[in-house]
Amino acid sequence: MTTTEERRGAGGGARRLPATGALADRLGRPMRDLRISITDRCNFRCVYCMPKAVFGRDYAFLDRDELLSFEEITRIARVAAAHGVEKLRLTGGEPLLRRGVEELIAMLAELRTPDGRPLEIALTTNGAALAVKAASLAQAGLTRVTVSLDSLDDERFQAMNDVRFPVERVLAGIDAAHEARLGPIKLNMVVKRGLNDDEIVPMARHFKGTPYTLRFIEYMDVGTSNGWSLDEVVPSAEIVERIGAEMPLEPLGEAAPGETASRWRYVDGGGEIGLISSVTNAFCGTCNRARVSTEGKLFTCLFATEGHDLRALLRDGASDDELAVAMGGIWGARADRYSEVRATLTPELRAARQKIEMSYIGG
Ligand code: SAM
Ligand code: SF4
Ligand code: SF4
Repeated sequence: MTTTEERRGAGGGARRLPATGALADRLGRPMRDLRISITDRCNFRCVYCMPKAVFGRDYAFLDRDELLSFEEITRIARVAAAHGVEKLRLTGGEPLLRRGVEELIAMLAELRTPDGRPLEIALTTNGAALAVKAASLAQAGLTRVTVSLDSLDDERFQAMNDVRFPVERVLAGIDAAHEARLGPIKLNMVVKRGLNDDEIVPMARHFKGTPYTLRFIEYMDVGTSNGWSLDEVVPSAEIVERIGAEMPLEPLGEAAPGETASRWRYVDGGGEIGLISSVTNAFCGTCNRARVSTEGKLFTCLFATEGHDLRALLRDGASDDELAVAMGGIWGARADRYSEVRATLTPELRAARQKIEMSYIGG
């Protein structure tokens, strides 16, 4: 177990780097949100993300020494905060599988923005371990969780996670997170036509009037293992239409700059839903998200084919200032807008692009 003093010396949050000013990429977008994948492993085998045929018994996951250590993650996050990042999101793989995740959260909770504010620390999880871990995560300093939930039908849910994990344990985890004040909690449902689109309205009905905000995500062509095709995407406009036909909806304004979801509220005051239209209404123009893979590569787009090796820099003894210059240079050169150009690519060109897997880089 690392002591607080050791953490401070080895990359903890107390020491602050000088502010680097307004960092902007080639399209004028700032870096505000850093998503960090802390494991490439998962206890689920969701059919659209880690299909068993690819991620089976023989799949070579990363060795422990290939993963970024907690100190390395904290150093990268601290430099990112100096560059303007205000929000961290831990993801994976399944982030709750990383041993000692609470210790990492406690280290990240010590970080501050250049003007002295703590960073928001969110985590995206499949919810399997939440019932057990919600209280300790909150105590460590986690701000909130987003839980993935693609179905309420137990048979369907078990088939989709492909490890026979029952849905009621995830629902219990969501309630435990709410009790631990890890909210406002967002629930993400990836919608794939023919797989779970018949649950759009039942899911909306179930969570209407609860403290949870359900968000529908268009199925994306991330990675190369899921054999994506455009016919499987249910456009957000169709989702709003289907729900609205039964429970009238009206549009709400944007929550925050760079917000990925468009928001709608029930006319009768039953709360709101979100739509993440990565395919039919790309939001690259305001995309302020950077991603760090489990082995320390910085990616400037979810659909990037290559990352920048920050781990090599760290392990070669780079100082924080050198790391800051490298990260600033990478962000400054960024011109990614894959979702905006996707429609112009032929299926062959899309297939030829060696994109990284969602389980490696997180959502
Ligand atoms: N294991 C955690 C979980 O499931 O929440 C975190 C990592 S998971 C890769 C992050 C999010 O990516 C999940 O909400 C998942 O549903 C979503 N996702 C995975 N593959 C996707 C795809 N092809 N299209 C859209 N979302 C996807
Ligand atoms: Fe695991 Fe999350 Fe991918 Fe499902 S979506 S296989 S829970 S990483
Ligand atoms: Fe951001 Fe890339 Fe997604 Fe566009 S495609 S919103 S640039 S991550």
